[in-house]
Amino acid sequence: MAPLGLEDQVIVVTGGNRGIGAAIVNLLLELGSKVAYTYRSHDENSLMGTMAIPADVTDETAMQAVVEQVEDKLGPIYGIVANAGITKDNFFPKLTTANWDEVIDTNLKGVYNTLKPVIPRMYERRSGSVVCITSISGERGNLGQTNYAASKAGTIGLTKSLALEAARYGVRANAVSPGFIETDMLKPIPDKVKQRILSEIPLSRFGKPEDVAWAVAFLLSPVASSYVTGTVVRVNGAHHT
Ligand code: NDP
Repeated sequence: MAPLGLEDQVIVVTGGNRGIGAAIVNLLLELGSKVAYTYRSHDENSLMGTMAIPADVTDETAMQAVVEQVEDKLGPIYGIVANAGITKDNFFPKLTTANWDEVIDTNLKGVYNTLKPVIPRMYERRSGSVVCITSISGERGNLGQTNYAASKAGTIGLTKSLALEAARYGVRANAVSPGFIETDMLKPIPDKVKQRILSEIPLSRFGKPEDVAWAVAFLLSPVASSYVTGTVVRVNGAHHT
């Protein structure tokens, strides 16, 4: 048996075409899982052996169809990783209602849309592991991110509550809270601000998408984390929360 017991398990990752999601997809493939992933705009990953599905997490019907397509083609879904997310940063007085709605719809309602169609199936099968990607911003707040931090704090509340409900069905739910990870999401941050953030991180570097992927694999694993549910695993180089 492979150490993490994820081989041949069907796992869906939202936003798996780039960034953290792509690193999760790549690692799960290495671990022998059957991986499906969604993307919104374009697919840069195109990995052999994966099922890539265009689907916007804000579209409830599309997310229902994803679950049906994956189960038809690959079999019962064991793991789901709610990873897709966006930022639309601005200081609160300048934040538009559109910015607020877009971030909440994608990062929080999107998690709901992702989990809603698959959770009853997991309950029926008495098997499943859910991992939601939250953020250091959702734990401690961050300048210019009232919308984003609210969506990510909401995701923690959703995950912890779901864990309480799901336990009796043998289904686990956990969150991973990355600090600052080198992906496209960091690109809009000015260099000066990046230097300041870096000086606050005891491990003296930004995280890599792979750092997050390993935490996700641990939480998905029926072997490594069978007694872990309702938790938030921080992957942030001891950046204070
Ligand atoms: P990227 O910007 O690199 O990638 C975002 C991913 O989300 C893309 O795959 C994108 O798809 C997908 N996505 C965005 N909106 C939607 C949507 N409406 N429907 C479907 N897919 C969508 O970000 P990261 O990889 O850095 O972020 C991944 C997750 O990690 C996010 O939830 C983010 O909030 C979180 N996170 C990131 C941190 C960081 O420092 N990078 C820190 C803490 C948390 P497409 O390419 O098609 O647009």
